[in-house]
Amino acid sequence: MTLHVAIVGAGPAGIYAGNILAHQFPDVEIDLFDSLPAPYGLIRYGVAPDHPRIKGIVNSLHEMLNDGKIRFYGNVTFGKDLNLEDIKKHYHAVIFATGAIKDAELSIPGIDLPGSFGAADFVAWYDGHPDYPRTWPLEAKQVAVLGNGNVALDVARMLAKHADDLLSTDIPANVYEGLKGSPLTDVHVFGRRGPANIKFTPIELRELGEVEDVDIVLYDEDFPEGWFDEDAEGVTNQHKVMARILESWRGRALTGASRRLHLHFYSTPVAILGEDKVTGIKFERTGTGKTFEHEVQAVYRAIGYFGSALPEIPFDEKFGVITNHGGRVIDGVYATGWIKRGPVGLIGHTKSDATETIENLVADIPNLKHPIAPGEILQTLTQRGVEYTDWKGWLKLDAHEQSLGQKENRERIKVVARDEQVKISRA
Ligand code: NAP
Repeated sequence: MTLHVAIVGAGPAGIYAGNILAHQFPDVEIDLFDSLPAPYGLIRYGVAPDHPRIKGIVNSLHEMLNDGKIRFYGNVTFGKDLNLEDIKKHYHAVIFATGAIKDAELSIPGIDLPGSFGAADFVAWYDGHPDYPRTWPLEAKQVAVLGNGNVALDVARMLAKHADDLLSTDIPANVYEGLKGSPLTDVHVFGRRGPANIKFTPIELRELGEVEDVDIVLYDEDFPEGWFDEDAEGVTNQHKVMARILESWRGRALTGASRRLHLHFYSTPVAILGEDKVTGIKFERTGTGKTFEHEVQAVYRAIGYFGSALPEIPFDEKFGVITNHGGRVIDGVYATGWIKRGPVGLIGHTKSDATETIENLVADIPNLKHPIAPGEILQTLTQRGVEYTDWKGWLKLDAHEQSLGQKENRERIKVVARDEQVKISRA
């Protein structure tokens, strides 16, 4: 029996799941849908452009899609262009791998002031996500970034970096222009806990100290005697490496760089200040009841992502995930990746996650309902006038972006607009 499976979400989680399924159950036909015209999800629209090592994961994802086992269809939105009934008609099973693309909420006064942003929105802008505005207000000289995870580092680094140092990346032209005009002098990253409790990872932290013309500033008050206890419960080698990195920066003299990146700790945000726009931010020195204020003109919260509910699919509003047990949702419906387990962990972790989901799906095969019209989804989409893109179309768009880059001695320049991407893909 040929198994027909749909996957919704063409990021790493969806592609890994498809690849693992194709190996475990070779008699399978997999259609991989994404609401965006191009594949790769988080890699294309979440990973910072100056992280070529992580962006390089695209090469293995490309191989997985290029061998023809998994058919990619972009510009198809679940809930709009196809629904659960369509899925049941055409497939034995569906796997949702839609990730987490919204910012977690921070309920403090002033959070909605102009100048207060969510990191996810800024990331979507600098990565050229087609559904976000082309311009970003970069008017602040002093900026606060809230959170001590890798997203906070991405945002802080992208704000602090000089635009010309990003020309080796695939940033779209509008992003280069926007960053080029930024008057920024100081980025202040605030963690609510101490320097021993950061959620950064060593490579990403170290990289911060290597940004051209940016000085790192640490404050002695955040590093009391014995601040790092190697033997404390939960301390990993990663923590030890990062403690050494922070210590090395403490001893480093300022070079007089034109921009500074400050790391502050024990700072719990309590209010964003300003009448009609951000003028500052108020913190509590964590656990002490004592408050202090900081003058900034913009605040970026990088306190975690949050998943979005999908029509007809059970959703846990508290944790922002599809309600599931080991990836099983309801009959014939599965989940994998951040929408299954929440927005934590590196891209590689989605592989083990996908393995679990696929093992459960394969175990369920005898009980899956047979679709009445397998392999006929394209007729349905065409009848509805959906301008879907496909793998061949992506190869065209990919080549087009690379040729745009070549003209300016760059590896690639991303095409941002959705209609332009669709037009090039379907040409
Ligand atoms: P994260 O690692 O969970 O970090 C979230 C940060 O926000 C934590 O420091 C947390 O503090 C803080 N936070 C949460 N609620 C807060 C509040 N109300 N007020 C102040 N601070 C608050 O999440 P992330 O940075 O969004 O990253 C998500 C995942 O993607 C992580 O696994 C990350 O490593 C990965 N990632 C990797 C890269 C890379 O380059 N390798 C880049 C981006 C993301 P507490 O610790 O005190 O809770």
